Amino acid sequence: MTPDEFRRHGHLLVDWIADYRERIATLPVMSPLQPGAVRALLPTAPPQRPEPFAQLVSDLEQVILPGVTHWNHPSSFAYFPSNAGLASVLADLVSSGLGAQAMSWQTSPAATELEDVVLDWLRQMVGLSDSFTGVIQDTASTATLVALLCARERTSNHGQSRGGLQAEAAPLIVYASQEAHSSIDKAALLAGFGKDNVRHIATDDAFALIPEQLEAAIALDLKEGRQPCAIVASVGTTATTAVDPVQAIAGIARRYKLWLHVDAALAGSAMILPECRAHWAGVESADSLVFNPHKWLGVAFDCTAYYVKSGEHLVRVMSTNPSYLQTAADGRVRNLRDWGIPLGRRFRALKLWFLLRDQGVLGLQARLRRDLDNAQWLKEQIDAGPRWERLAPVPFQTVVIRHVPEGMVDEAALRPHNLKIAASINESGKAYLTPAVVKGRQAIRVSIGAEATTRAEVSALWSLLQQAASR
Ligand code: PLP
Repeated sequence: MTPDEFRRHGHLLVDWIADYRERIATLPVMSPLQPGAVRALLPTAPPQRPEPFAQLVSDLEQVILPGVTHWNHPSSFAYFPSNAGLASVLADLVSSGLGAQAMSWQTSPAATELEDVVLDWLRQMVGLSDSFTGVIQDTASTATLVALLCARERTSNHGQSRGGLQAEAAPLIVYASQEAHSSIDKAALLAGFGKDNVRHIATDDAFALIPEQLEAAIALDLKEGRQPCAIVASVGTTATTAVDPVQAIAGIARRYKLWLHVDAALAGSAMILPECRAHWAGVESADSLVFNPHKWLGVAFDCTAYYVKSGEHLVRVMSTNPSYLQTAADGRVRNLRDWGIPLGRRFRALKLWFLLRDQGVLGLQARLRRDLDNAQWLKEQIDAGPRWERLAPVPFQTVVIRHVPEGMVDEAALRPHNLKIAASINESGKAYLTPAVVKGRQAIRVSIGAEATTRAEVSALWSLLQQAASR
């Protein structure tokens, strides 16, 4: 494709994306397709000859769009908000257009230096001190894996440069709550800790880790000759957005000299609101922290903010430095390939930069406050409705509920009843919700915060829930 053809097709596609966002509310939120439906419309072999670009755009509309679930739909209440603010969509295009590699400072100085600057802006926005240094990772899962690798190396005094975990005298142990995201377990397994060495600590009625139980588990491991290594505290768990008591956990981490990693994947964005910061009081003691600007904040996927206290330790764990990667600027600059797992890195900082400049901190704060208000409004409706139950506190934007028909007390009956409510709404295409089981009870999660979601959509969802429940 020549630059001139790109210009023509690019204009067409920008119009297509803008039209898509304008008509998104008219589309079914969850794709109604059955498995195999998209594949059936695609040729099994690659095209041998060039095809007209217009054909590609037509297939985008006819073949691809019906198979898309619309996360930026105003009635998307599933999983978590995954907002792709249009300013950051344009930045993504610029990033690909530049085709820059951000692996070393020299391979694109602007990519590294912009990343330095925007992550420092973001640090200030969420109220973290300048003892933290940030780097962009793809996902929270990767950042948590990096955190546990760093924890492992600190506890083992850089055992990877000797026999690794296999040479350790005692197994190293990782602690997280029973409600922690599956990425914690995955990271622990991938980092070689082994399933037997991951402790899932009990939670209280608000689904938050119980510090006394954590300390008891650590004491038992020590008594039995194992080596406690890392604690992962969750600020905003996936099912209910529960908040672990970071302050108390940090005290325990300090006492036993354990690595403290804070997983605030979704809820970290809320910390741009000073009134939310009490939720992560104690976070300053963390060794590492992750949150996803690609969730609620509005940066187009993917863009994960990972903050560490000791960049030096991180680099020592991650750095390889073969001769072909060395440059004359080494020693004077950050080479971000040494701040994570992959060598090649996209110019993701552009997405954050565009979003922050397009919205300003005040614009982002106003949107998140709107979402918090909408969640409180829905909470009030649920609390006032006789046959509805709220199964968890609402510290952020997720409301966890279930419908309890008169006389139905058995979980065995309540489970299919609530699953049916969620399925019927999802299949209607009018809204999209995800169910979850919380402490053995079947719940419906309402995760509010798509960029286009206003009170009107939340109110319409409440009507849909009531209608579905009465059928
Ligand atoms: N941690 C929590 C609390 C989450 O809710 C999620 C995703 O929903 C993750 C981690 C994983 O995020 P990612 O998809 O960025 O790996």
